Amino acid sequence: ANGRVKAMEIVKDFEEDCATSYSKLKHVADAMTVEMHAGLASEGGSKLKMLISYVDNLPTGDEKGLFYALDLGGTNFRVLRVQLGGRDGRIVNQEFVEVSIPPNLMVKSTDALFDYIANELAKFVAKEGPGFHLPPGKQRELGFTFSFPVMQTSINSGNLIKWTKGFSIDDTIGRDVVAELTKAMERKGVDMRVSALVNDTIGTLAGGRYFNNDVVVAVILGTGSNAAYVERAQAIPKWQGLLPKSGDMVINMEWGNFRSSHLPLTEYDRAMDIESLNPGEQIFEKLVSGMYLGEILRRVLLRMAEEAAFFGATVPPKLKIPFILKTPDMSSMHHDTSVNLKVVGIKMKEILGISDTPLKTRKIVVQLCNIVATRGARLAAAAIFGVLKKMGRDTVRPGEKQKTVIAMDGGLFEHYSEYSKCLENTLRELVGEQVSESLFIEHANDGSGIGAALLAASHSQYL
Ligand code: ADP
Ligand code: MG
Repeated sequence: ANGRVKAMEIVKDFEEDCATSYSKLKHVADAMTVEMHAGLASEGGSKLKMLISYVDNLPTGDEKGLFYALDLGGTNFRVLRVQLGGRDGRIVNQEFVEVSIPPNLMVKSTDALFDYIANELAKFVAKEGPGFHLPPGKQRELGFTFSFPVMQTSINSGNLIKWTKGFSIDDTIGRDVVAELTKAMERKGVDMRVSALVNDTIGTLAGGRYFNNDVVVAVILGTGSNAAYVERAQAIPKWQGLLPKSGDMVINMEWGNFRSSHLPLTEYDRAMDIESLNPGEQIFEKLVSGMYLGEILRRVLLRMAEEAAFFGATVPPKLKIPFILKTPDMSSMHHDTSVNLKVVGIKMKEILGISDTPLKTRKIVVQLCNIVATRGARLAAAAIFGVLKKMGRDTVRPGEKQKTVIAMDGGLFEHYSEYSKCLENTLRELVGEQVSESLFIEHANDGSGIGAALLAASHSQYL
């Protein structure tokens, strides 16, 4: 019984440390706006890199022809081809394959990783069927979605700044990832030109805009988290080049690296960060994204097992294994609606080897899922609110009919409905009733691959 008291104390402390009051969220949003300004002002001016994407025009709908895309950014990568039919034809045909990245390749060498990717691409190209048409004499073109921080040097070149999300290959840092991919394609006999290098946020923004003209922000909540938005080129002091004709420049915020004293970090977050592959970095991402939510939960449960004998006299050995508890499993437990929390029972047994958990234990597990997910979702909402503030879309002028559409993507947003619901409700609460009426959140289902193909089309060598 003493253990029970201690366990509840741990839960209560954790809940308090995770609190995201309305006023805290406002502070987080304001801090985001401030950092955005700083990141745009000068290189290295902020933890937010606010990377210039070299995308100054988003798709119009007129894009035409056969284009490929390759999407690398997490545990899986996708290769796709799309036949674009122009204004009236739109997407005539589309095919993709998804392949998982062998974990050893995430930490091995640049060549091994890119060879693996190029090889999958070669297999996919070999299967190009009759629904796709490349005009005679033309080279295939590809949009490369590479979702790690890259310092772009043009629309189709850029150097890797750092790996995130569990990737760690030292010899890639500072190298042009398009050159590396191109070399690997040559080694594997793929004749293809990389016409656009983008991030998943930029791809999602482009894909979103293709279907809806009012899309101005894209947010990814998957393994990691990031956002992109359309900025006025004039509002980017660090931009040295000519002002683009459109007057716009898409910015890849790399908001995963956002950090602020207003973020509710707990001792569990600090410990997870210190033991991570990238200590001190991607602090915001570690609070909100899919790679980490389950791990935070595991850490709290472990503490309860160790200090309050929450699962009996011995600490379940599996509970000590980092990252054994994945966010999709946390999500299944959180969404368990059965009276006896059957799913929670099954997951505790299957993943952690803890059998016959009493109902009151299961209830506490669900409560912890809720604390971790709610904090993440509310912080993500605050971050979006910060972006809307920077864009001046947090207010509506009288008589104005401007719509703001946010394209959202990523497995976390897509599948963790308690999280997505909480995010949307919180964002609506933050912007207020009036702005809420003109604010739309769209799920851009795998828009990032299509978006990269669209940007390859609008940056084709044959235009
Ligand atoms: P990536 O971010 O790796 O490009 P996705 O956008 O598909 O890929 O997101 C995958 C991530 O989404 C997983 O790592 C996981 O954290 C999260 N995720 C996937 N399915 C679920 C789920 N059912 N519930 C919660 N999170 C999920
Ligand atoms: Mg992705």
